[in-house]
Amino acid sequence: MYDYVIVGSGLYGAVFAQRAMAAGKKVLVLEKRDHIGGNIYTEDTEGIQVHRYGAHIFHTNNKEVWNYITKFAEFNRYTNSPVANYKGELFSLPFNMYTFHAMWGVVTPQQAAEKIEQQRKAAGITEPKNLEEQAISLVGTDIYEKLIKGYTQKQWGRKCTDLPAFIIKRLPVRLTFDNNYFNALYQGIPTEGYTKLIENLLSGAEIRCNTDYLDPAVKAEMDGMAKKVVYTGPIDAYFGHSLGTLEYRTVRFETELLAEANYQGNAVVNYTDAETPYTRIIEHKWFTFGKDTAGNDLPKTVISREYPAEWKPGDEPYYPVNDEKNTALYEQYKALGEKEGKVIFGGRLGQYRYYDMDAVIAEALKQAQTEGL
Ligand code: FAD
Ligand code: UDP
Repeated sequence: MYDYVIVGSGLYGAVFAQRAMAAGKKVLVLEKRDHIGGNIYTEDTEGIQVHRYGAHIFHTNNKEVWNYITKFAEFNRYTNSPVANYKGELFSLPFNMYTFHAMWGVVTPQQAAEKIEQQRKAAGITEPKNLEEQAISLVGTDIYEKLIKGYTQKQWGRKCTDLPAFIIKRLPVRLTFDNNYFNALYQGIPTEGYTKLIENLLSGAEIRCNTDYLDPAVKAEMDGMAKKVVYTGPIDAYFGHSLGTLEYRTVRFETELLAEANYQGNAVVNYTDAETPYTRIIEHKWFTFGKDTAGNDLPKTVISREYPAEWKPGDEPYYPVNDEKNTALYEQYKALGEKEGKVIFGGRLGQYRYYDMDAVIAEALKQAQTEGL
């Protein structure tokens, strides 16, 4: 018997497993892919840590989470400061005085605030009801048109008027000169990659890769051996999509190894117009190397173009679509989940939530506590 059979070796599963093992529990981790790590998996290509399932930058304001996770990996002091490329014009992100200066030539915070207020008034927005209205009310029409509208519609495959306002509230708006993308006390990338972090969390655990828990034979066997199951796959798949299929966005990554030291001079460049088919280009080496020495000394680089797409069965489910329709369907699955006595649903897919890594860690720690671990 296992105290916990943990389905999924992503961050949620790994943190929960670590807490359970530390409390002396017996765990088995099942993973349907051929490797551990879930979406934060990184692999070494010619000395460069490549983020295979999308760029991951760790950032948090939660001291408990930071103190916990840094016991399992050393983090560097990477600070994310993406550049936006709109038809060849470059702007700093997130929206700050550098962006406002490049967009309008304004020099002082007061001038920037007045410009935003003028544009918000002209658009007649008082209570923002959707992403478009929220964006215009935060940064004005010009920035919305050049830096948000095209990017967001490519990212989500939906009009900004059909998307919830909260998505854009993830981005800071600052009347200061500060290109740090995150309002976070702690930020960084594990110096040896995220896979190593997961390996350290799972140290000593029994792990079976290439094993799909939802395969009926596997499920029957595992349920028979588990006092409890922690399930971090898609909640609708657990119930055989019996109430309908939850929608996701997926991303196709086009990755290339190039024989040059420096392709774009930054880890992240967003292409914010509607016509460029990809949303951004990631140059992976800049996540782990400093820009002064090691990064430039290596005459190679790996880049990934990201093409978001509507998810269909068989694709990787990346982003839950937390609109009204999907949220209502999720609530129905959640109610079913609550009746499954010994199963805990966790993580981005199990809880159908647009969680960042720090929130996933916090949730897993909270769940472990609830379990008395
Ligand atoms: P996952 O990592 O998805 O792990 C679930 C695991 O369960 C997977 O390995 C899957 O194969 C396995 N599984 C599913 N079904 C089964 C089954 N039936 N049997 C066995 N195994 C199964 N967060 C940040 O903080 N910063 C970022 O910069 C950031 N960037 C992101 C970029 C992208 C493109 C995406 C998609 C997400 C990003 N995130 C970021 C969020 C981050 O990826 C998640 O918070 C975190 O990885 C979620 O961990 P998880 O364990 O819940 O899910
Ligand atoms: N966004 C945008 N332009 C950009 C970057 C982001 O309009 O150049 C919007 C977009 O809608 C995105 C949201 O801001 O979904 C949140 O951005 P974030 O970088 O947090 O998205 P992530 O890729 O982490 O989900």
